[in-house]
Formats: sequence, structure tokens, C-alpha cells
Amino acid sequence: MSTTGSAPTVADVVAALDRRYPPAWAEEWDRVGLVLGEPTTGVSRVACVVDVVPETVEEALDAGADMIVAHHPLLLRGVSSVAATTYKGRIVHRLIKADVALYVAHTNADVADPGVSDALAARFGLTGLRPLHRPRPGSPPDGPGRGIGRIGELPTPMTLAELTRHAAAVLPATAWGVRAAGDPGRMVRTLAVSGGSGDGFLAEATAAGVDAFLTADLRHHPAGEHLAAGGPALLDAAHWATERPWLDDLAAHLRDELGVETVVSDLDTDPWTVHAAAPRPDDKEPRP
Ligand SMILES: [Zn+2]
Repeated sequence: MSTTGSAPTVADVVAALDRRYPPAWAEEWDRVGLVLGEPTTGVSRVACVVDVVPETVEEALDAGADMIVAHHPLLLRGVSSVAATTYKGRIVHRLIKADVALYVAHTNADVADPGVSDALAARFGLTGLRPLHRPRPGSPPDGPGRGIGRIGELPTPMTLAELTRHAAAVLPATAWGVRAAGDPGRMVRTLAVSGGSGDGFLAEATAAGVDAFLTADLRHHPAGEHLAAGGPALLDAAHWATERPWLDDLAAHLRDELGVETVVSDLDTDPWTVHAAAPRPDDKEPRP
């Protein structure tokens, strides 16, 4: 923490974020921490984004941000060039030329307490929160309350159909919206949520005995087989919409800890931009 009263530096922001989201908590395949930026550069405004794409970078630069904190890594796999002729190289050049630092907190923020799925759970008012997927005992992120996804009780039980409409209303708006799998009349009291791709946690949602599981990027065969085996109902939201709520928590923490200004991106970076519901059988043609 900066105690001199002067503006914090990139190194101060990194230290504060590394304390809340230790890089050692990230999955082995993940790439987190400072991506680019001079540690000694002063930071008065931080932009919080899910994805580092040209649109969110321009938005951050327009807002006068000195640093971007992102959820998804810009550079996950090995690269041998950041030439400005490449998509990601162009972004790297844009940021370095503008002297804007970039920091990533990904699976280390998923597993933290509070973490990405706490912010998602808060949108539903879930209580009695517990992790859906706990870290391996003795592994770096192992600890009370930590783990990926959250399980909790809804303030008011509702049917799957009602919960799907409710989810579309309380999550950030996207073209994708929310779709659900299972009996629309099934009552849901206990809900599991996991920000981002939650395909890998279907068995854990079943083992936890929840009524429904909301996540993103669900696929035909795993979802179908999960339901056929009697697993909880599934809600499939837009990936971006499940992680965007965390940005508010991240920004509040940066303001409290460092006194920096923050801007939170509401730019929907979900790749899906069009959604059409099939016309009802009694409709002659789709409504305009
Ligand atoms: Zn994600």
C-alpha cells in the first residue's frame, strides 16, 4: 500500500492485487500478473475489464486510465512476436506507446474469497455461500472459503422458468441472454454458480445436490448426459455476463486499498451479438 500520500505506482497496484489474488493460486496452465508496464509509473486511474480487446483498450485510454486490470489473459500461449502487424501485437504496441500498464487476475481471482463467483452469487442474493469446487488439499489456493464457483440459497424459491427470466434480468444484458436445460417447472432453492466456462464442474454440482447450476459455455453432449443422469437443472449464460459482476468488486477494492479512481467497462465483449427466438407455432411470421 502507498503510504506516502503521493499517487500509487504500477508496482503498488501489482502488490495490492497480488495480495488479494496471489499468482500462486492460479492454475498451472494460466498466465497471470503484470503483462506490461513500468513498475515506477504513477497510477491515478485504473480501468477494469473482462477482455483485453481493441474496443476495451480504446475505452480505457479515452477514460484516461494509466493501467488496465483484466480477467482474461491477453497472452496465454507462447508467442514469438508482438509485431504491430498482429492482432495482439497491435494491442501491446497501443498500450506501451500510451504508457498504460496491463495486469491479469484470472483463475487466481476465480478461486479467491471473495472471488469472481461471489460477485455473481451476489446478483442472485445467494446466502450461506460455499465453494462448488475446492482446491486440492495442500495446494497453494487451499484455504477456508476458497474455491471455484459458489453454492447458496435463493432468497425465494422459484421455478426453473422463473429463475431463467430472473437471471436474464439481474445479469448484465447480452444478446445471448440466458437459456436453461431441464424441467421448466422444477423448483429451485439451492443454486450453484460459476463464472466463465463451468463445463468441468457438472459432476460437482450433482454431488453437491443443488437444484440448478448457472454457468457459461455449456455443450450439447455433456449437458444432455448430465440431465439424463438426474443432475441439477442447467442455466447457460453469456460468458462475459457471468464475469462482469466481479469488476465492481475489483474496482471497489482498488479504490479502498489505493485511493485510485476506477472505471469499469460495460462493453459487452461476448462474441455472440444476435439472438432470435423461434416464432411461436401460432405466429404467422416472426414479429419485427
Ligand atoms: Zn472467463
